[in-house]
Amino acid sequence: MTEREYDVVIIGSGAGGGTVAKELAPLAKSGARIAVLEWGPRFREEEFTGREIEMAARLYHEGGGVLTKDGAMTLAFGKAYGGSTVVYTGTSLVVRPDTVARWGVKGLDHADLARRSAKYMAENNVHLIPEEDQNENNRLFRDACRRLSWRVEQFPVNVKGCRGSGLCNLGCPNAAKQGTHRVQLPQAESAGVEVITNCKVERIEDRAVLARVAPCRFGFPSAWEPGEHRVKARFVVVCGGAVNTCALLLRSNLPARLPVLGKWLTTHPALILVAEHPRPITNFHGHPKSYYCDHFTESRRFLLETCMYFPFMTAKSMCGFGAPHEAMMRRFDRLQMILSLAIDPAREHNAVGINAAGEPVVDYTLADDVLNSLLESMRAAARIFFEAGAVRVHAPATERFAIERADRERIDDLVVRKWLRPGRVSISAAHLMGGARMGAGPDDSVTNEWGEVHGLPWLFVGDSALFPRCAEINPYLTIMALADRVAERVTRRLSAPGGR
Ligand SMILES: Cc1cc2nc3c(=O)[nH]c(=O)nc-3n(C[C@H](O)[C@H](O)[C@H](O)COP(=O)(O)OP(=O)(O)OC[C@H]3O[C@@H](n4cnc5c(N)ncnc54)[C@H](O)[C@@H]3O)c2cc1C
Ligand code: SF4
Repeated sequence: MTEREYDVVIIGSGAGGGTVAKELAPLAKSGARIAVLEWGPRFREEEFTGREIEMAARLYHEGGGVLTKDGAMTLAFGKAYGGSTVVYTGTSLVVRPDTVARWGVKGLDHADLARRSAKYMAENNVHLIPEEDQNENNRLFRDACRRLSWRVEQFPVNVKGCRGSGLCNLGCPNAAKQGTHRVQLPQAESAGVEVITNCKVERIEDRAVLARVAPCRFGFPSAWEPGEHRVKARFVVVCGGAVNTCALLLRSNLPARLPVLGKWLTTHPALILVAEHPRPITNFHGHPKSYYCDHFTESRRFLLETCMYFPFMTAKSMCGFGAPHEAMMRRFDRLQMILSLAIDPAREHNAVGINAAGEPVVDYTLADDVLNSLLESMRAAARIFFEAGAVRVHAPATERFAIERADRERIDDLVVRKWLRPGRVSISAAHLMGGARMGAGPDDSVTNEWGEVHGLPWLFVGDSALFPRCAEINPYLTIMALADRVAERVTRRLSAPGGR
């Protein structure tokens, strides 16, 4: 085993870890030794092929299909230099004031998060895509929402030189999406922060981590040789993403009382909804995500967003098999798509645990209120599809494969709860939040409002695990804002006399 020593070790390089690394860059410049240990590889440009099955297997943990314990939901999160920011779509929203108020974390206010989010919006080139570059999938959604008098807004996105290939969730092949792999990590590295890829942290010990570097199958070789490494650090910042951060902390048997570790996980359970138009609608040209409808956020607790998924993902998102399924897939260029997301309440029993091998097990129950939100979201999406001119809508909670246009006045009768059964309907989640929530003390949380783990002053959490409840919008910008706070606190502690 190789022994190493650093001032700060950051575990994970996604929205949280990449941000912390970049914010600590001035310390690295002035001599502090800082390392980011990332489980995934750093891909070469030519390895972003845009091919669905190949890229899903390379870029995601378990190909993007991590199953919850009951098998009712799949979870998608990235594993690469840049974490899930390599595969996210780059929609960039600032958390709403009422959401932060609902979190009720003393010392955490909306103005502070908004100020920090604005910094990353500027850094990541966040802007609105001009009308002429928006595709028909997006315009149909927007115009239908407006005709229905439902609130619809344009997503700001973080792209530079976007060529509209629609492949964002497979890793942008055009280097346009401004994730931490394009912006924050390169800045950190040029200041002297070391990023070690193919390096999985197995356990955290007292002011040290045990890591294993795997031989390289893709991308650039790791800066460290394959094998085991014990790395001493004055501060450790865990940014492995909600699921892996919790699993790592749980298997480390930390000497602190953390009774809620892993608990209160939220996921924004989501459905990919599909409808067929009588003609091609160019859904796969242009940036996939330009609009969202938050008209039902308060009343029904769901969001609707434009989206475009790839053939395998689309096929698996539709219920049923056989001729109608095949017929719809064959008309892929006529499909309009909407992603619906339930705004799920945080519940103690929705939790990340570990199995005997120390690997994560996500125990998440799709509760009645969440299923009702998804049911209402399907009905609303079906109205949008028909308003936009679709000839048939595949609504998973129906007895039939699709609702025909002639039946569009009967949506509420046809889309019913009876058919929305976990396991029957394909539900997925990509916004995993909580498990190491911020709060006042160990009885209700894992860290304080600065991400410091209760009782372990050298250990921080700096990622999506910090959310006390869900973000109620797409979360990455808020994760960066929270990570920015964590980095500020680490900087202050490291710069204090004695550096503790
Ligand atoms: C397909 C998809 C689309 C999305 N689109 C959007 C969007 O448009 N807008 C938005 O706001 N959000 C979006 N999100 C969500 C957003 O990307 C995530 O919420 C965010 O990236 C999470 O940040 P994080 O730092 O917590 O974790 P991640 O970004 O997932 O990074 C965690 C990193 O830690 C590494 N790691 C884990 N465990 C270890 C370990 N033990 N040792 C070493 N390394 C480890 C992982 O390999 C990973 O690279 C999307 C997510 C997905 C999957
Ligand atoms: S749509 Fe733009 S950001 Fe997305 S993959 Fe294509 S070029 Fe990249």
